[in-house]
Amino acid sequence: MEKRRRMTREEREHQLHVRMGIAAAAFVVLLLIIAAVVRFSGSGKKDGSRNPEAVPAADTMSAAVETEVQTEVQTETETPPDPYADKPEIDINSWEFILANSTHSISDYAPQTAPIESVELDARIISAMTSFVADTRAQGLSVVLTSGYRSYDTQTYLFNNKVAQYGGDEATAATIVARPGTSEHQTGLAADITDQYYQFMNESLESTATYQWMSQHCHEYGFIVRFPKGKEDITGIMYEPWHYRYVGVPAATYIMEHGLTLEEFVELYQ
Ligand SMILES: [Zn+2]
Repeated sequence: MEKRRRMTREEREHQLHVRMGIAAAAFVVLLLIIAAVVRFSGSGKKDGSRNPEAVPAADTMSAAVETEVQTEVQTETETPPDPYADKPEIDINSWEFILANSTHSISDYAPQTAPIESVELDARIISAMTSFVADTRAQGLSVVLTSGYRSYDTQTYLFNNKVAQYGGDEATAATIVARPGTSEHQTGLAADITDQYYQFMNESLESTATYQWMSQHCHEYGFIVRFPKGKEDITGIMYEPWHYRYVGVPAATYIMEHGLTLEEFVELYQ
């Protein structure tokens, strides 16, 4: 009985050694197969154009894995998500996007204009402005266009008058009246719009029902609030709730939805 039990234990130990030997052999075979597969796939990619400087895949399995991980990390850091990837497909060099400000002089640019009420605008935006004003009035609101296109000569006259008023101080005059060539009114794409019964051109205009409705719907007609509050350092112009600028419906919708200025919008296409 005792002898039989010892024999059984020896047999079992022998069996265990045999099994371990088989498992070890199988593991070695498995490693060889993996090495062969890696070598084969590596040589198969030699003529491919994936990455000429890739680490040879035949080295080791772990080297191949490390390369994959590094590639993923590099891809993530090199291409951060673009928050404006959904910007509209427009031609930024088209006439709707002409920029006139203290750093972008449009010299003596002169568009073909047409009359609308008491002012003139670029002839190409007359129908858009007509609809904008008509639909505002349909809300029972009183609208008046107080300023539209101003020629280079008119702007020169206004600027020189302001300079004279300040004793020849051009810098001070320029903070009140734009220098010739830098006024957006010279593009013919901008209009000053106030309430007929509240024609104050200051920040308080924003509390009128006319401004509330027009600023919320202007993009439907292709217009933007050109000099918004809080963006003075970008536009170089104080908050002007009366000044609307035409840029077309797709751009206007995008600009108003994202709270951009025309300067920032143009920058997205550079
Ligand atoms: Zn204006």
